[in-house]
Amino acid sequence: LSERLAELHELPAETADGVRVRLSANIEFPHETKAAVARGADGIGLYRTEFLYLSSEEEPSEEDHYNAYSEVVRAMHGRPVVIRTLDLGADKMGHRPLAENEHNPCLGLRSIRLSLRNLDLFRPQLRAILRAAVHGDIRVMFPLITTIAELRQARMLLNLVAEDLKDADVPFRSDIPVGMMVEVPAAVIMLDMFAKEVDFLSIGTNDLAQYTLAVDRGNEYVADLYQSSDPAVLRLIQSCVKISKSSDVPLSVCGEMSSMPGRALLLLGLGVRSLSVPPSAIPTIKKTIRSVSITRCEEIAKRAMTLEAAREVDMYLLNQIAELV
Ligand code: PEP
Ligand code: MG
Repeated sequence: LSERLAELHELPAETADGVRVRLSANIEFPHETKAAVARGADGIGLYRTEFLYLSSEEEPSEEDHYNAYSEVVRAMHGRPVVIRTLDLGADKMGHRPLAENEHNPCLGLRSIRLSLRNLDLFRPQLRAILRAAVHGDIRVMFPLITTIAELRQARMLLNLVAEDLKDADVPFRSDIPVGMMVEVPAAVIMLDMFAKEVDFLSIGTNDLAQYTLAVDRGNEYVADLYQSSDPAVLRLIQSCVKISKSSDVPLSVCGEMSSMPGRALLLLGLGVRSLSVPPSAIPTIKKTIRSVSITRCEEIAKRAMTLEAAREVDMYLLNQIAELV
C-alpha cells in the first residue's frame, strides 16, 4: 500500500476526464511541511498561525513569526503558501484570556476583530509576513471577515506596515496577494462586494456551518446538528462559486469538509477547483479525485442539491463513494 501511496504522490490531483484540481495542505506547525511535500501537496492552502501562540508560554516576537514563515515558504520550494493571520479567541484560546467575561466567545472579540483591536499583536505578524515573502510565494489571508470595513482596515494596516519597513530599509515584498476567509454568512451574502477588494477567497466550512446553523462547533450536545453537508450550507457554497466565477476571483475550500471524500466530490460538482486538507488526507482525497469524472461530480451535486437534510445528503454521498471503489 505504501508503494501505491508513494506513486500517488507523483501524480496530479486530476479527475478521470482531465480536470486539474489544486490540492493543498492545511498546517499548524512549520514541521508539517515535510508531510505536505512528501504527499505531493500543491502548496499550503491554510497555515493556522495562531498555533505559534497556543504552543508557547511566551508571546511570539516578530522574529519568531518571521522564522516560522520563512521555514514554511522555503520548505515549499516555490509553491504558494497562504498564511492566515491570527485567529485567536473562541475555540482557539491561548494561555492568557484575550477578552474577559465574554458570554458568547464565538460571537465575541475573536479572530480579525481581536487583531484589529490589538495592534501590538497584529503589526509584528504583518511585518513578519511581508519580510518572509522575499523567500517565496507567500499570500496573506484574513479570517472571519464579516464587514467591508474590517477588510479595508486590515489591508490599510498591511500598507502602513509596508511603509514602515521601507522607511527602515528592511527587505520585504509588498505586492503579495491578499485574500479573505469566507466563514460567516454575512460574507457570503455580500460576497460580490468583497470580491472587488481581494485577490482570492477561501471558504472555511467549519465556521461557516457553525454560524449558518447556529450550532457551536465544539458543543457535544448539538454535535448531530453540526454538519457542513446541511443543505443550507451547501446553498451558501453554491452561491460563493457563482460569485467567484462572475467576479473572476479564485475560490478554494479549506474547512474539514474538503477532506471527507463524499463531500469533496460534491464540492467539485458544485464547481470548486481548489481544496485544502490536512496532509494526512491528501492521498485519500487525491485518489478520490482521480477516480471520478467532473461530469459525474456534477450529476452528484445536482441530485444532492435536491435533498432536504444533511443526513440524506451524507447517505447519498456514501452510496456514490461506494460505487467508485
Ligand atoms: C474553518 O473555519 O473552516 C477553518 C478552516 O478555520 P478554523 O477551523 O481554523 O476555524
Ligand atoms: Mg474558521
